[in-house]
Amino acid sequence: MKAVVFREFGSSDVLRLEELEDPRPGPGEVTIEVAACALNHLDVDVREGVSRFPIEPPHVLGLEVVGRIAEVGEGVEGWQVGDRVMPNLMDTCGECRFCTTGRESLCLDAGFISFVHSGGYAERLACSASQLIRVPEELSDVEAAVVQIAFATAWHMLFTRGGLRPGETVLINSVGSGIGSAAVQLAHMAGAYVIGNSSSDEKLARASELGMDAGVNYTKQDLVQEVMRLTDDRGVDLVYEHCGGELFQKGLDSLSKDGRLVICGGHAGEVVPFDIIPFFRAQKSVIGSFVYTKAEVEICLELARRGRITPLVHQTFPLDRAKDAMDLMESRDFFGKIVLTPGG
Ligand SMILES: [Zn+2]
Repeated sequence: MKAVVFREFGSSDVLRLEELEDPRPGPGEVTIEVAACALNHLDVDVREGVSRFPIEPPHVLGLEVVGRIAEVGEGVEGWQVGDRVMPNLMDTCGECRFCTTGRESLCLDAGFISFVHSGGYAERLACSASQLIRVPEELSDVEAAVVQIAFATAWHMLFTRGGLRPGETVLINSVGSGIGSAAVQLAHMAGAYVIGNSSSDEKLARASELGMDAGVNYTKQDLVQEVMRLTDDRGVDLVYEHCGGELFQKGLDSLSKDGRLVICGGHAGEVVPFDIIPFFRAQKSVIGSFVYTKAEVEICLELARRGRITPLVHQTFPLDRAKDAMDLMESRDFFGKIVLTPGG
């Protein structure tokens, strides 16, 4: 099969299109013919060797895959060659104290899809059959490929971890990103008042079309002041944070008393100062959030199938243009998700 491999950490120049041996399914596994694989910023971290996950080159990237089952391994039941599927990002053990209590994103023995086997920047991959999720017919391969990480992460953060309720106000950081625009759609659908921010007026305009009630361009306006103006000096009930750096502290400062900040990323600054005094005096909370459950992915696929949420695809690229696709993602000059189509 053809696959995009990197054999040393570095910039997108380390990516090579190579001919690799086809993966074969082990017991309990299937192989999937990859039709579409969405890019994620984590791919860049992994390629650069700064992901803080134990990954060594050579490596085939690609976490978010849709395709058809090409081969079924020994002992696999309920799945046939040709079934249209996406593997859940995580292969969880199903037995640890987190898996057995509905908190499988914290599984003590989990593997990420491209970390355990090779990933979706390839014509084929192998994964555990227990990871598989059926893809609704109503969604194209590319549409389905952009649902999982953006929407299920947003669902887990907003509702499962953040406890967002109808009528509450939420501040969504960086609405132009995949998980930002997904959160705008879900929070709007849930009946929250949605304030979003971005460094780009164009991205704010796109987010308004998705249900954002008010937008703040933080390069031109004072974010905290604007949030206070929009909320009659109360602050928001929930901040949806995935950026780190300055936006983390500004998020905390934008919270109402007893407000919650839920966070799942820190590309803009992973270690930040933290003003403790106003934090505890206003009884604020910071809540960590890590990926999502398989059930949450299935909810989001169902919402997409019914047209309640819109999977956003910025651009697709053939496999041999993976470098261009990654360069575009690093430029941040896009809205929605970028997708590789190894199936042509
Ligand atoms: Zn587990």
